Amino acid sequence: MNPRLSALRICLAYLVAACLWTVLSDQLLQLILDESALMPWLTGKKYLFIAVTSLLLFLLLKRQFGHQQRTYAALEESEQRLNRALDAVEDGIWEWDLSNDQVFYSPGYAHLIGVPYCQMGTQIGQWYERLHPDDRESTLATYQDHLQGRSAQFECTYRLRHSDGGYRWIHTRGRVSRDGHGEPTRMTGTSRDVTRQRQTDDHLRQAAAVFEATQEGLLVADVHGKILHINPSFQRITGYSADEVLGRNPSVLKSGLQDDGFYQRMWQALKSDGVWCGEIWNRRKSGEVYPQWQHICAVHDEKGKLTHYVAVFSDLSSIKRSQRELDFLAHHDPLTGLPNRLLLLERIEQALARGERDKSGGALLLLDLDHFKHINDSLGHSTGDLLVKAVAERLRGLLDEHSSLARLGGDEFAVILENRLPQHVSSLAQRLLDAMDAPFEVAGQPIYISASLGVSLYPDDARDVDHLLQHADAALFQAKASGRSLYAFYTPELTARARAHVQVEAALRQALENDELRVYYQPVHDLASGRVVGVESLVRWQHPERGLVPPGEFIPVAEACGLIAAIDTWVLDQACRQMRAWLDQGVLLEFVAVNLSSRVFCREGLEDRVARALRESDLAPQHLVLEVTESAIMQNVDQSVALMQRLRALGVHLAIDDFGTGYSSLMRLKRMPVQKLKIDQGFVAGLPGDTEDAAIACAIIALARSMGLKVVAEGIERPDQAAFLLSHACDFGQGYWYGRPQPASELPWCATAQNVDESV
Ligand code: C2E
Ligand code: MG
Ligand code: MG
Repeated sequence: MNPRLSALRICLAYLVAACLWTVLSDQLLQLILDESALMPWLTGKKYLFIAVTSLLLFLLLKRQFGHQQRTYAALEESEQRLNRALDAVEDGIWEWDLSNDQVFYSPGYAHLIGVPYCQMGTQIGQWYERLHPDDRESTLATYQDHLQGRSAQFECTYRLRHSDGGYRWIHTRGRVSRDGHGEPTRMTGTSRDVTRQRQTDDHLRQAAAVFEATQEGLLVADVHGKILHINPSFQRITGYSADEVLGRNPSVLKSGLQDDGFYQRMWQALKSDGVWCGEIWNRRKSGEVYPQWQHICAVHDEKGKLTHYVAVFSDLSSIKRSQRELDFLAHHDPLTGLPNRLLLLERIEQALARGERDKSGGALLLLDLDHFKHINDSLGHSTGDLLVKAVAERLRGLLDEHSSLARLGGDEFAVILENRLPQHVSSLAQRLLDAMDAPFEVAGQPIYISASLGVSLYPDDARDVDHLLQHADAALFQAKASGRSLYAFYTPELTARARAHVQVEAALRQALENDELRVYYQPVHDLASGRVVGVESLVRWQHPERGLVPPGEFIPVAEACGLIAAIDTWVLDQACRQMRAWLDQGVLLEFVAVNLSSRVFCREGLEDRVARALRESDLAPQHLVLEVTESAIMQNVDQSVALMQRLRALGVHLAIDDFGTGYSSLMRLKRMPVQKLKIDQGFVAGLPGDTEDAAIACAIIALARSMGLKVVAEGIERPDQAAFLLSHACDFGQGYWYGRPQPASELPWCATAQNVDESV
């Protein structure tokens, strides 16, 4: 209803009614009343009219004001409600009047940018000022799109400066209103602070990137252990793809190496602490079992209810491998790949401990190249490096698995030798120095270099690492001072002995080549009849300068340097052929005895060598006796017994030499397939007067008899010794009283016969 029209209508109705009343009431009164009575009625009617219309006006106004009051109250209440609503929403509400660029903001909007509501400006320009410079262009473009009808609504996210100086991400939606001509008049919309949401989104994106890209395997499982997610590294480490494990239990990875108790403890820790970490062995799809470091944590929702388990694991096999590599780098010299000083010290320590435990000795050798500095100075450091490498290679080739080679730096090397006697050490020392004789081919040119070597023995020279090193160093200094290309022991006597040893070794090699060895034969007599029953072959060295050298002086050297096998084989061949020759000449001999070194005795292929010697000399095996010392057998009883059985199978006889000096037990003796015991000459020497020697000799004879073995007594120098032995039923005897070892040609029965020495 139009209020102006209503008011006009009421006024017109009043005007008509008032005019009609005035005109009609006056005429009516004039008709019914005379002139004199008319006046008071006219006056009364006027006041009645005023009274009635006043009453009507009053009623009308009262109704109108009441209505207006209720409208205002309703309006006010509605406005308050609206304001409360606007206050309550976090979103900011705005209305932009496009005609004058004035903007109305709700209190929420002021809150978004931290400005008191009363200070919010209304100019659009002020808002634009707050907009982040980088977002202005895109925001305006979005606005233009909407304004020109290209988008149904204005929606974009931009940054607005907050009163604290920072920026807040604001997400805004709005819509333009248009007038009847389609012209935009205003734009209304809401804005919301999405800074936190964006941060959360960023975090989620980063977490997802971490999940995807991390080198650790990741697995998310629900409360029942069902696998929900895995990352690419899970597949790389375990070999299982997502299709193969999603929905399954992580127990598919179990290796079976951990017992149930292990898993119970793990679950217990997860329950009580919410986390568990430790090393666990799992199985890849390929079946390979590998170690991994695993971290499992329980995930709870905001109410504390368990929702998921997350497991992160890394493959320790590669870590362990790199640890090993690091360890290798830390303990090895990068140029030669040899152990460095650090590892050498550790190994010396271990060798010393082993030596002490096993009551064995060994040595530390320090080898230093002579005048290496000249090489570096004249040919350059890279050539020097190549030479050091080549030297390392050559040294390595000379050492067995019981030796340990290291590079101490520069041109200095070290060798630890375990379980060796000094004579072995000197042989090796000489071999290492000799190895330098041949030129080294470095960078296409031959380089000649020598080395000096210092030796310190343990436990004789030192029992701890520091002293062993110091003494080896002192010995090296000594070697250099004595003229280089030499080795020296820490103690001068040892050096002298070692050098003599090496000289003998070198000469002995020559002796073999130059045919300077001789076989002497010592007759063995039957004590009862006095008849010669056999001979023992004993090697001699016919030295061009020193004359006849007894075996005691060169057999130990030959044993240390490995020449003994060649010597024993040579003697064996000679003895077999000599025996064959004697038999052919009708000499009545039962056997020829040949000594075997303990070194040869335990070597592979001995029975082949014996068989070949018999075959080549055409000697029947029962004519050959092999003498082995008791101590040689004792070094490895089982192996010795097996070897003796194989030799026995060839038909040869076996004798235990120097019996009584070793530690044979009766039990062991019983197992040995031997036919003879030779009483060591040490016991014979005291006969018959020395009661102890007599008792031992008698005991050996009785023992041999009880076991069905023959007994030979060595070293009989006097007839009373022979008589004593005979009276105690000893079978055979040999010694100077019967005859010294002699060349075959000088034996009594050979005076006329031809012998092998002459024929070869
Ligand atoms: P063996 O096998 O016990 O030899 C006996 C040693 O006693 C020989 O010493 C011999 O000359 C010596 N002898 C013999 N009768 C008497 C005597 O009445 N009084 C004294 N005092 N000694 C006597 P030889 O020839 O010096 O040999 C010493 C050791 O060298 C031998 O002890 C043997 O173990 C070893 N040997 C000798 N020839 C060889 C050989 O060809 N190969 C091996 N591996 N060792 C051999
Ligand atoms: Mg002997
Ligand atoms: Mg002997």
